[in-house]
Amino acid sequence: MPAFKNSTFRIDSFCSHTCDHLIVLCSDFRFGKANLKFLKEEGIDVYDEIRIPGGIKSLVDSIGSFIDEESFVFNWIKFFHFKHKVRLVHLVSHANCGKYIADGIVFDDDEAEELFHRRQLFVAGGFLEQSFPKIRTFLHYAKMSKNRKKVEYVKVE
Ligand SMILES: [Zn+2]
Repeated sequence: MPAFKNSTFRIDSFCSHTCDHLIVLCSDFRFGKANLKFLKEEGIDVYDEIRIPGGIKSLVDSIGSFIDEESFVFNWIKFFHFKHKVRLVHLVSHANCGKYIADGIVFDDDEAEELFHRRQLFVAGGFLEQSFPKIRTFLHYAKMSKNRKKVEYVKVE
């Protein structure tokens, strides 16, 4: 159990009420540390974040179903875009995602899984850029090494 104590941190992000970046990703704890390292490596240190099980899944699932306004992820992207002026949206999907597995989506092998996620990312990115002309999307797929000790972030383009 962590022993919480009073803490004070120096931060710069309160100087502005807008930011450029929004990250949309899965809440899977296994990728938490790797996600932070990935963002740091990319030079992204100030960002809004939408982190829910499955990440972009609910966004993709809602496209074309006439319930776009009911999409949790879509509505929060819209909120951050208009409220915080985010315009660079990073969509991150990952291998072995429990949300897809829970919904009965199974893959024959790692290649099939990656191809599936690449398609989902393209659909999500295209939908967002079409919905919000000032938004530019960046697509990433996080995959684990065979021994599950490393995570590789692949740029999807
Ligand atoms: Zn996941």
